[in-house]
Amino acid sequence: MSLKGQHRQVSLSVLLERESANVKIEKPEIVHGLANQSKKGEDFTLFKTECQRTMGDGVTTFSVFGLFDGHNGPTAAIYSKENLLNNVLNSIPPDLNTDEWVAALPRALVAGFVKTDKDFQEREKISGTTVTLVIIEGWVITVASVGDSRCIFDSAVGGIYYLSSDHRLECNEEERGRITTSGGGIGRLNTGGGTEVSSLLVQFCILFFLSASTPFLSRAVKLNTLKIGPLRCWPGGLCLSRSIGDKDVGEFIVPVPYVKQIKISSAGGRMIISSDGVWDALSAEAALDCCRGMPPDAAAAQIVKEALQADGLRDDTTCVVIDILPQEKPAVPLTPKKRIKRLFMSLFRKKHSESSSRSDKKNMGPDVVEELFEEGSAMLSKRLDTKYPVCNMFKLFMCAICQLELKPGEGISVHAGPSSSVKLRQWDGPFLCSSCQVKKEAMEGKRPSGVND
Ligand SMILES: [Zn+2]
Repeated sequence: MSLKGQHRQVSLSVLLERESANVKIEKPEIVHGLANQSKKGEDFTLFKTECQRTMGDGVTTFSVFGLFDGHNGPTAAIYSKENLLNNVLNSIPPDLNTDEWVAALPRALVAGFVKTDKDFQEREKISGTTVTLVIIEGWVITVASVGDSRCIFDSAVGGIYYLSSDHRLECNEEERGRITTSGGGIGRLNTGGGTEVSSLLVQFCILFFLSASTPFLSRAVKLNTLKIGPLRCWPGGLCLSRSIGDKDVGEFIVPVPYVKQIKISSAGGRMIISSDGVWDALSAEAALDCCRGMPPDAAAAQIVKEALQADGLRDDTTCVVIDILPQEKPAVPLTPKKRIKRLFMSLFRKKHSESSSRSDKKNMGPDVVEELFEEGSAMLSKRLDTKYPVCNMFKLFMCAICQLELKPGEGISVHAGPSSSVKLRQWDGPFLCSSCQVKKEAMEGKRPSGVND
């Protein structure tokens, strides 16, 4: 998997220069652990702890963690694991400094999620996946999520932060409204008494089919809540309102992620990303409390164990624990000889090699978790038109979703549409290519679901 700018090495002279300039290593140490109990083999994880990107005079690193909880087969989860990160990174303009790069992430995540969904749907009709993608750059954590896996952060200085949104129809009224407006139906599975035998038979057949293919329904069946069950959208019967894939369900199931970005204090903290199997059984507090003091691997195993003890193995159950720790600082100033020795050690151990960004220095301040960004709207016109100054750097004549080059006048403004009351000028970007415009209209319910060209 090739990441943008990944292969550019820092020259030894640059490293020596930085060392002699006494640049402090201010990035956190990141340690992670994983535990998984598989039932269907549809949960997948992504760990990339040393992603490199070029900036200014050298290279810096960031970490990426992903959890993909697939349904109706593993193909959407596998495809997203293999392609999503590249699609996100390819949406970020090159040569940004750290602050600009971090500010560009929310928009790039939207573009990357939508492109991955569009590309996957062109290949496969069936299968979908939830996605929780975490990018850690310095002390800034950015989380993009679709579906009902959940990501929490427990700050070392106190406070639990929810970094993802639940896109379950049952608990998300706003999403129910969006789906009905886009032409989807919402309702519980109807197996009420007094039904004719033939229709009951049909409903049991549907039940059988769905329970074999979605984890959500099997839960309803086991609980004997055939009359009720969770709210689902129809056609399709999915309990989620957002995912990657699920072309067969309907285009009102959109891939536009909820994005939250926080800057944590330099005291660090612990993150937990888990699939719904864990959160159906444990509260955030219970998950954190059951593994306090344990290293990430043991902590993840303990959380999965606790979840299974409470609920049994009803679904794939995956837990990722990420500890974000302050780097240990050398106690004594290094002599030139030792300095070189330490430098080589850091090369071999692949430690975070440099950080000179202003944001890190600013972060040495008060022990608070600062919210930098939060947005969950499904409207691309809102999500791609960021207010950050960095938006001016996004290339004007490129599709904001798939990064295809556009000829002047060829792109369609993301603000275009029958509902637009403002007269658009030719340069009112960002722009979409015609193919991504079709995707946008389908997601907004402007054409019948399932009609594809
Ligand atoms: Zn496009």
